[in-house]
Amino acid sequence: MSAAVALVAAAVPLLVGGAAAAPARPLAGRVVGIDPGHNGGNFADPGFINRPVWNGRESEACDTTGTETDGGYTEALFNFRVATYLKADLRALGARVVMTRDSNHGVGPCITDRARIIDRARADVAIDIHADGGPPGGRGFAILEPVADGPNDHVIGSSKRFARVLRGRYRAITGMPVSDYDGSGGLALRDDLAGLNLTTVPKVLIECGNMRNSTDARRLVSARFQRRAAESFAAAIVAFLGGRS
Ligand code: ZN
Repeated sequence: MSAAVALVAAAVPLLVGGAAAAPARPLAGRVVGIDPGHNGGNFADPGFINRPVWNGRESEACDTTGTETDGGYTEALFNFRVATYLKADLRALGARVVMTRDSNHGVGPCITDRARIIDRARADVAIDIHADGGPPGGRGFAILEPVADGPNDHVIGSSKRFARVLRGRYRAITGMPVSDYDGSGGLALRDDLAGLNLTTVPKVLIECGNMRNSTDARRLVSARFQRRAAESFAAAIVAFLGGRS
């Protein structure tokens, strides 16, 4: 372990409210799945991303471009930056991390393949990272939870528990309010998303804020906010896997 990694590993439990005696590598032996939504190259390949796939309940497009701010900062880049910070945080805490893409200049993979990558890794928990393209007057974050449909039947309860832990950590560490236009109290049930319909591991999708809202967008594009978002996800994962709420 490098000195830098050791420092991060030592610092994170303090940031997440752990006791001084908390283990430096609380995620040792754990596997965490991260799906940074969309991809930077999706804009250039409509033929690939528009082909239909079966999301567990219905046919939908393989992937989409995702949204962007008025200033042209793409959701795909936001998702990837947060995922990259999170991966580093989780590794410092001892986890093995499985990502569904490793750059922001490719195309895809399809949403069904993203789900399979994480299922096959038998992740202990997973997070799909997105930011919303909501109404310009709407603000805040929403955590999307799976609805039982067969493949995901055994992870509904655990995903709901993770959603609540994540909501608390994300709100406290980033200061982003819960959505005033999506779901209720920052949570929304969704049965139309492959990542949630096909998951066999505890998983939620977070819309980190509304990229079409100028107040949210100013935060979302800043590296400082992105680091805090990742920090809150790591804190939630440590708490969830440690059996805390
Ligand atoms: Zn998205």
